[in-house]
Amino acid sequence: MSWPDLGDGGRILVVDDALDNIRMLHAALKDDYEVIFARSGAEALRLVQEQPPELILLDAMMPELDGFGVCAVLKSSSLTRDIPLIFVTALNQPEDEQRALEAGAVDFITKPFHAAVIVARVKTHLTLKRQSDVLRQLSLTDSLTGIANRRCFDQALEREWRRCERLGTPLALMMIDVDCFKAYNDRYGHQAGDDCLKTVADCLAHCLHRPSDLVARYGGEEFAVLLPEQELEGALVIARRMIDEARGLNIAHDSSPVAPYVTLSIGATAAVPRRDTLPGKLVLDADKELYQAKSAGRDRVHWPAVSTAETAV
Ligand code: GH3
Ligand code: MG
Ligand code: MG
Repeated sequence: MSWPDLGDGGRILVVDDALDNIRMLHAALKDDYEVIFARSGAEALRLVQEQPPELILLDAMMPELDGFGVCAVLKSSSLTRDIPLIFVTALNQPEDEQRALEAGAVDFITKPFHAAVIVARVKTHLTLKRQSDVLRQLSLTDSLTGIANRRCFDQALEREWRRCERLGTPLALMMIDVDCFKAYNDRYGHQAGDDCLKTVADCLAHCLHRPSDLVARYGGEEFAVLLPEQELEGALVIARRMIDEARGLNIAHDSSPVAPYVTLSIGATAAVPRRDTLPGKLVLDADKELYQAKSAGRDRVHWPAVSTAETAV
């Protein structure tokens, strides 16, 4: 697999208290990049929030907040820690370089600099950053359906469990299984089965509206939906909508005995996370409810504290 040329374009922040340096760096980079600049550490931090750059060229010695201080602030936040930082500085001792690299900079260029070297290094670091972004994205995406994969779900569950614990708010979870999918595959073949799973994944995603809601392919024909800060009642509304929408999908291929619509069984649960409980408990609970939904006849949602499952729609 060859990578596309990923090193061009994008916004670069130049931070330097000396206007001449800014001018030179701007002249070197302006043809290939959008260049913004700051003349102090504080201004740099403000610009990073307002116009997030893809890469930062950072002077080390500045009055008040210096380059090392800016670097420390950026590395302390998950929102900014991955922006590549290149020090461009009059400091030229190995210990300075070591300090910058240990603080999280990706590179260290000493002044006076050659414009062509700066351009080449910027391009290299942007390419590396973009490649690692692509890889991270791929590692969290289900290749068949394009929605989140199991790894992404597991990470989100851990993260949201801790966040909802801090907030004291409930976290709702649904485990969703396509009913009688083996029969669908047997009748229409695996490729049609794959298409059906993509259609179901899109349909489930369309039923979610909050940015923090997540639908993932948990495995095979099973999906998991995470609803942070959501009570069970809210999750049930979404579950019923999903069952309803899935039934509305046109998946008929011919006049076969397999029903011309998809039905889903859903196990739903919600809990306010507690420190002494692991998030996996939520998955176990939702799984139990899913099992109940299946044994009660499929095509329905089941949830705790009810003796009989509801037939959806
Ligand atoms: P139930 O209602 O009890 O869930 O029955 P089921 O037939 O859906 O469940 P079962 O576990 O017996 O079969 C699941 C089927 O899902 C069998 C498997 O081939 C199919 N499946 C799992 N992953 C994929 C996939 O990626 N593509 C296709 N086409 N089929 C898949
Ligand atoms: Mg299954
Ligand atoms: Mg199934």
